[in-house]
Amino acid sequence: MKNVKYAKCVKCGKEYEATPNTTTCTCGGILDIVYDYDYIKAHFTRDDLERSQEWSMWRYRPFLPVEADSAPTPLRVGWSPLYRADNLARELGLKTLYIKDDGQNPTASLKDRASAMAVVKAREAGAHTIACSSTGNAASSLAGNAAAAGIPTYIFVPSRAPKGKVAQLRIFGATVISVDGSYEDTFELSKAAIEKWGWYNRNAAINPYLSEGKKTVTLEILEQLHWKVPDFIALSVGDGCTIAGAWKGLKDLYAAGFIDRLPRLISVQAEGCCPLNRAIMTATPWQPMEENTLADSIAVGVPRNADKALQAIEESDGLVVNVTDDEILAAMRLLGRTQGVFGEPAGVTGTAGVKKALERGILDPDATVVSVVTGNGLKDVANGIKAAGEPMLVRPSMDELLKAFDANGIHP
Ligand SMILES: *Cc1c(COP(=O)(O)O)cnc(C)c1O
Ligand SMILES: [Zn+2]
Repeated sequence: MKNVKYAKCVKCGKEYEATPNTTTCTCGGILDIVYDYDYIKAHFTRDDLERSQEWSMWRYRPFLPVEADSAPTPLRVGWSPLYRADNLARELGLKTLYIKDDGQNPTASLKDRASAMAVVKAREAGAHTIACSSTGNAASSLAGNAAAAGIPTYIFVPSRAPKGKVAQLRIFGATVISVDGSYEDTFELSKAAIEKWGWYNRNAAINPYLSEGKKTVTLEILEQLHWKVPDFIALSVGDGCTIAGAWKGLKDLYAAGFIDRLPRLISVQAEGCCPLNRAIMTATPWQPMEENTLADSIAVGVPRNADKALQAIEESDGLVVNVTDDEILAAMRLLGRTQGVFGEPAGVTGTAGVKKALERGILDPDATVVSVVTGNGLKDVANGIKAAGEPMLVRPSMDELLKAFDANGIHP
């Protein structure tokens, strides 16, 4: 990899050769991939992208830690739409808002970006099997992307994972281990099993390549905005791998001269599980929390990527906002009603945070904001119904329809 220098521990600074199965530092710290920006600058420009016909995350290869001859993954991951969200902006009293709908990835979440990367790195490592533990989406995306590449998977999920996501796993042919315990318990069990059987490890933070896949979301956002830098990018945060990756992408673009300033991040967590935001708010080291939120994808009491995530939020002079489950459900309705975008609870949490930050007066209404919808609502139908309720039920007659309209205050 001519564009990559080495992997560097974010805790102690120790450097490692960036091999395909590089994991964590001996000190326990997580590794960050360090690039040769002079090399990238000399081989990749905005004009190259203009000419690119690769409509997936692999259009950013020179920014990615993969071998030049590594084949991309079969499923189309990335290049999700960036919508200008004027209806929603008007309701929120915000001047300019964009929605990046990453629920439109092949397995319907942003996690596909990390899983596609994991599949490529597993192949480079010569691995025959990939494993991970996940709150749901990392699992379903790994299962789907690996299935397409013909690689078997072992997947550990907490038993509370929504049925839609578990159905995806089964359909994609993964060996699924549903763990009767928390995400923390699930993670530890997967770790022990991975050590025992030597599977390729697609666990957030342990594998430093995953956030490199996830960073393509901000590479895309900036390209889709024609390199006009927004003021803020809002994301929901669980393990912290996504927000760390988003920041890495922005810093890459800056270092390679594609953009001339950096946006600020908005880190949004659920009030019932916000160890990272709490650490920033109280200026103390992060402490584990219970996993008290219906937004299962960000119900992470022990964040695996805390160091990188906290660093990203701080470096970007970011905002931190916590939202309640009711605010998350309200954001599901709001995004659906105003923009036709259906997100899962964690998928809309960033948008719920934008709304709250405006109400609190910590976000300037004149700002340009991009809110990333990280997962599709059909993955978690139960919470969709919880957010929006059941429809009226009528017998098939006009009389009954009129009565039902009257009862519901509907006057067509
Ligand atoms: C995983 C996930 C997140 C959070 O990403 P982390 O890397 O865990 O912080 C947010 N939304 C959805 C839908 C996810 O699946
Ligand atoms: Zn270290």
